[in-house]
Amino acid sequence: MNMMIKQDSDLHKQMTNWRQEIHANPEIGFEEFKTAALVKAQLLKAGVEIVAEEIAVTGIVAVVHGAKGGSNKAIALRADMDALPIKELTGADYASKTDGKMHACGHDGHTSMLLGAATYLQKNNDFAGSVYFLFQPAEEGYGGARKMIEEGLFDKISVENVYGMHNWPGMKLGEFAVRGGPVMAAADSFEINITARGGHGAMPHTTIDAVILGTQMVNAFQSIVARNVDPMDTAVLSVTQIHSGDAFNVIPETCYLAGTIRTFKPEVKALIKQRMTAIIDGIAKMHDAKAEFNYMDGYPSTNNDQEQADFCQSVMSDMVGGDKVQTDLNPSMGAEDFSYMLEEKAGAYIMMGNGDSAGLHNPYYNFNDKALPIGASYWVKLVETALN
Ligand SMILES: [Zn+2]
Ligand SMILES: [Zn+2]
Repeated sequence: MNMMIKQDSDLHKQMTNWRQEIHANPEIGFEEFKTAALVKAQLLKAGVEIVAEEIAVTGIVAVVHGAKGGSNKAIALRADMDALPIKELTGADYASKTDGKMHACGHDGHTSMLLGAATYLQKNNDFAGSVYFLFQPAEEGYGGARKMIEEGLFDKISVENVYGMHNWPGMKLGEFAVRGGPVMAAADSFEINITARGGHGAMPHTTIDAVILGTQMVNAFQSIVARNVDPMDTAVLSVTQIHSGDAFNVIPETCYLAGTIRTFKPEVKALIKQRMTAIIDGIAKMHDAKAEFNYMDGYPSTNNDQEQADFCQSVMSDMVGGDKVQTDLNPSMGAEDFSYMLEEKAGAYIMMGNGDSAGLHNPYYNFNDKALPIGASYWVKLVETALN
């Protein structure tokens, strides 16, 4: 492996310390105050210039300018900093000190790798142009990337390309995956509030049964992905909540349904929304009841630029060998707010092996510290290649 930052080097040890310190002190979306303070302190210690702080509450933007002249090209590398509301069960000696919060998605590792890359590149800036480091809050559901953009991220800094990375449990350490096109899904959610007519459980003819309406809707929804969406497209429609009734002898007046919709193409999302509306209105009308449908847009799908994905693939192949770079990993139905940055700038979001760990968002998950120099070396090599 051709790595700029070696296993067990001093920088690897530093990254491990930061990672475990952040891990022990997890903070959820827009509350990453301690994490941002650690990032800022280390950037200043390493002599890295900070361009913006408190962007999207706790976000930090830093820059290293190359020593070579002749190019104004600038790129940005992004890491997310937030943890999740999960009770940690890893038993690690640096396990979460905050009950009910945990770094279960490896953003502690992402932050440490980007910090390691910035530290390295500040000392080794034999490139032309500039590299920006984006330390982003609130990836897990709160749209920190969108908020950074709304607060003028790409007005403050002018970059051509943006790059993101996520650790991937189940993929071997030292392996990567990248592909052009969609890599993560759009994740929307919905709620349905049915109001019918409650009554005595033994006198159904005097009622309009909200349970019947709710279950008919759940059933009818199953035909949308199966019969309306093109078989060559991908979509998920899951009803994940049904709440109705409190007693065995009462037909309830109301029924609440909620769930999630995952898609890659805007036209598929629009089709599902339109079919759901028709089904909900139709079933409510059929029973002479009322149903209110709220569709909540979530993160858009994460789409890699083909050219940039090819570029990242060549950077990885140079580093770990072409046989260690997967290009056929299926897109994930999970979602990622880096999608907002990729809507603004061409770039690519890649996966890096975390070895045989528990899955993301699992209470036993832990970021693999051996991956720190691998991911940080990828960032360094990407910068040295893109800003040659
Ligand atoms: Zn996550
Ligand atoms: Zn994540």
